Amino acid sequence: MSEGTIKKTGMELEKLIRNIPDFPEKGIQFKDITTLLKSGRGFRDSIEWMVSLYEDKNIDKVIAVESRGFIFGAPVALRLGAGFVPVRKKNKLPADKYTVKYELEYGCDELQMHKDAVAQGEKVLIIDDLLATGGTTLAAIELLNKCEAEVESICFLIELLGLGGREKLKSHRVDSLIKIECKE
Ligand code: AMP
Repeated sequence: MSEGTIKKTGMELEKLIRNIPDFPEKGIQFKDITTLLKSGRGFRDSIEWMVSLYEDKNIDKVIAVESRGFIFGAPVALRLGAGFVPVRKKNKLPADKYTVKYELEYGCDELQMHKDAVAQGEKVLIIDDLLATGGTTLAAIELLNKCEAEVESICFLIELLGLGGREKLKSHRVDSLIKIECKE
């Protein structure tokens, strides 16, 4: 995709995102992507943008965090011919797993990944719907470090500016299509 097409796509897709003030708690401007997903064009263009960035990168695995990351991660993995690895909240995965504690924009939780999900040296792409503080993605990177995987890139449909997310992930390539000023 050319720079011009990417910019136009980003502007069009931004219009499909619904802002919900004070959800799930006061002070949070929740970016509701269900309004984008229900648009065939909106969903397709989001996936096409992600695929266009990495189709020549020989990605072995796409890693996505439960649950909205799965919506984008699985179709992108399919299109790249890469494997898909779900990172899940605690007590959801059945086999031997790694665990990492992390902080959210609202609250704290644990993420888990199967120990045999990614092999040492594999090139991985992390995908999520939205970058806020970067805590979730940092936890996913920590899980991948335990496997000694190579994080090729991190991709978000939406980046909230002003919450320090990109700064937290600065040792990696970070791509985002829609950048929204956040004054929380
Ligand atoms: P963070 O760890 O702070 O970067 O938060 C990222 C994760 O939390 C993503 O998986 C998002 O789905 C969710 N999230 C955080 N803040 C928001 C927000 N303002 N609107 C929608 N989702 C959010």
